[in-house]
Amino acid sequence: MNTIVDLRSDTVTQPSAAMRAAMLAAPLGDDVFADDPSVNALQDQAAVLLGFEASLFMPTGTQSNLCAILSHCQRGEEYIVGQMAHCYRWEGGGAAVFGSVQPQPIEHQRDGSLALADIEAAIKPDDAHFARSRLLALENTWDGKVLPFDYVKQATDFASARGLARHLDGARLFNAATAQEAANGSDIRAEAQRIARCFDSVSVCLSKGLGAPVGSVLCGSRELITRAHRIRKMAGGGMRQAGMLAAAGSHALDHHLERLADDHALARRLADGLQGIDGLQVEAPQTNIVFIDLVGAARARSAELLPYLKSQGVLATGLYRLRFVTHMDVDAAGIDRAIGIIQRFFSR
Ligand SMILES: *Cc1c(COP(=O)(O)O)cnc(C)c1O
Repeated sequence: MNTIVDLRSDTVTQPSAAMRAAMLAAPLGDDVFADDPSVNALQDQAAVLLGFEASLFMPTGTQSNLCAILSHCQRGEEYIVGQMAHCYRWEGGGAAVFGSVQPQPIEHQRDGSLALADIEAAIKPDDAHFARSRLLALENTWDGKVLPFDYVKQATDFASARGLARHLDGARLFNAATAQEAANGSDIRAEAQRIARCFDSVSVCLSKGLGAPVGSVLCGSRELITRAHRIRKMAGGGMRQAGMLAAAGSHALDHHLERLADDHALARRLADGLQGIDGLQVEAPQTNIVFIDLVGAARARSAELLPYLKSQGVLATGLYRLRFVTHMDVDAAGIDRAIGIIQRFFSR
């Protein structure tokens, strides 16, 4: 059915027939009255899965991060965050715009982590000159990279010792858990919970590799989620018969966690297939995102590459640094086709 191999993002998937059936069958109510059984079920499921008291269904990951940051921080407070973190760089400055919460970005290390020394240096003394440092926000996976678990533990313990709350933008938390599961021979749910337990709040996207059409969940203590619920209302995120969407999320959590390993295998297949093409520097993928840098003579042809791929039915993003994301609507045949087309382009 899929003649297009769409590797722009893992957000492009279509709900499966089984997911659509679950959506159609979902019992509904008005969630603004807390009456939607399917929303309530998803929220209970996500909280239990990640080991928190409560969770809140969100229309998007962006709103979820916003509600989390504004639940942790008051006006005039700040969150310490990566320079390239989604909840700083890619969310329109929402925390500053809507919450008067100042971001304090710091540079990432190569593996995506924020050095403890840099976090330490960014924490402000209690002095009228400064915004009050209130929160550390990490992201895992970041750019398809898994933050080393020992680092996550250290950084969040350190933040806690310094009086900071800890938020995880875990849009792709289950991709991180999948990679850790493969390394430790553990279980994806146990690994996800191990990471999540280092934080006071965790946001997870249902709409990426998990394959739901929309939605995220924000997990935290009951008190934090009560605050987030009020902010979600202000942000216009109080949805009514949202159970049709929540049912897709529940279906994803029930059936799509294990399959993330398939996406990781496809990413490796793509990376392996593109090794050795002159002018391509392929980064070994840790999860479902493959980055490829164009170097030397290949750079001069970068502007032609994506249009050519598109003309051949393969979609990706980037210019000098290409990004390919695998997901449930691509298969090995599609990846092999993409490899063949890229090889052809560079052999011309
Ligand atoms: C996609 C993404 C988000 C935002 O999710 P939306 O649903 O697109 O708003 C937040 N953080 C990270 C790391 C993401 O990849």
